[in-house]
Amino acid sequence: MAIRLFSEHVILGQGANLRVEGALLSIAGDSIVDLQPMSRAQFAARPDADDCLDLGQQLVGPSFLNGHTHLAMSALRGIGQQALRGNVVEDLYFQLESHLTPADVRAFVRMGAYENLLAGVGAVWDHYYHADDIAAGLMDVGLCGVVAPTVQDVAGPGRDGTEAALESTLAIHASTRHQQAGVYAALGPHATDTVSPALWRRLALLADQHQLVMHAHIAQSIEEYRRSMQTYGCTPIAGLREAGILDLDTGLVLVHSLFVTAADIRLLHPDRHALAYCPLSQIQFAFPAHITPWLQAGLPIQVGTDAGACNDTMNVQQELRVLAGGSAFAVTQGEAYRDFQASGSLGAAEAVHSQRVQTYDQTPSIHQMLDMVWQTPARFCPALRMGELAIGNRACLNVWDLSHPALWPATDPLRALVMCDAAKALRHVMLNGQWMAPLDTRLQEHVLNSADFQAAQAEASERLQALLRRTGLF
Ligand SMILES: [Zn+2]
Repeated sequence: MAIRLFSEHVILGQGANLRVEGALLSIAGDSIVDLQPMSRAQFAARPDADDCLDLGQQLVGPSFLNGHTHLAMSALRGIGQQALRGNVVEDLYFQLESHLTPADVRAFVRMGAYENLLAGVGAVWDHYYHADDIAAGLMDVGLCGVVAPTVQDVAGPGRDGTEAALESTLAIHASTRHQQAGVYAALGPHATDTVSPALWRRLALLADQHQLVMHAHIAQSIEEYRRSMQTYGCTPIAGLREAGILDLDTGLVLVHSLFVTAADIRLLHPDRHALAYCPLSQIQFAFPAHITPWLQAGLPIQVGTDAGACNDTMNVQQELRVLAGGSAFAVTQGEAYRDFQASGSLGAAEAVHSQRVQTYDQTPSIHQMLDMVWQTPARFCPALRMGELAIGNRACLNVWDLSHPALWPATDPLRALVMCDAAKALRHVMLNGQWMAPLDTRLQEHVLNSADFQAAQAEASERLQALLRRTGLF
């Protein structure tokens, strides 16, 4: 039985063609099977109008995709603030992670998945250990995703689990059960300093043989850059070219990429390479990536939250606000402002203002930013069939209440989805053609009061306490 729903405000198209107009959507199984733009008057004139769900003026749009996560690490939120000045990944997370069990991962992933769900995220690009349990945790909650089992052979808690991680990758990739739930695999080399050149070459062969996209942290820390320069005499990205990774037409999602040179950017191609940009995480564990050269080179960007442990929220929509305005902090910290403070001259003040205008002019457009949570993270895993409401795509959508004070008056609904605190106004969520809460209930209330959520929360809390006791760190 198909679900047919009409709204006066449906987000259609993608990129520069993104627009909001009235439309009638038909959903059968997990897919959008028909989509007809139409006005309220045209809808009302249809003989079947009474059999359709009329969402009135509520905004219907595609689910967000969270372009880089480690859902299980939500359990480590708020732990180890003192480690953030150094390399928090190596100094703290690696130690805790060596004590994690697969069942811990599944329990923690569920909590991260619920937080994503309640922020309007329908799919995540996750990267972690015990990946079979990441996939299981996603499916427990109903979220879609691209799961990259973390692969390491030089350093890190996954060092002895390389073969198991690769087996998981291929097993998830081949599993119809996972595909039906919208869960797909990616190859997950951890970073250039935790994976040997020989293993990178082996992963390149697997990518080609099995048509798998690759998802890896690249140039994310000074330690990684230092090791690359000292051991191989080249930047991490130049090292990837040497290993044949940059030629793979199956694609590479480069996460963080903080230490990237102008020459590195020239090695990348918009058809094969995307940056996964996580500004709110990066400002905690390091500093934000410089995205302007990526944008100028036409390289696609997908936005993610990274881990709950180094971001404190899974709300990917809030990353867009930071992306839109974050570069203005450079004005405050810049040389022009220091000159102005010293001299107070009008000329120095004008220089500050012109830097501000220049920075503003480099800000991506609303359409470009929405592409970073819709089109790009969907394009790099086409099997997801997400990122746009279109015939044949997976029926994963959000219904936003435009009359909610968080969005009202929503004069420009697309801008509102970038700049407002939209999660509060999330009214309904559909994933894989299923409403995640009955339409006469409040989404948040329904999910949080459900027996499934309460059991998941209790188990995750118990497992976290046990993990902390086992590590002896706290
Ligand atoms: Zn990460």
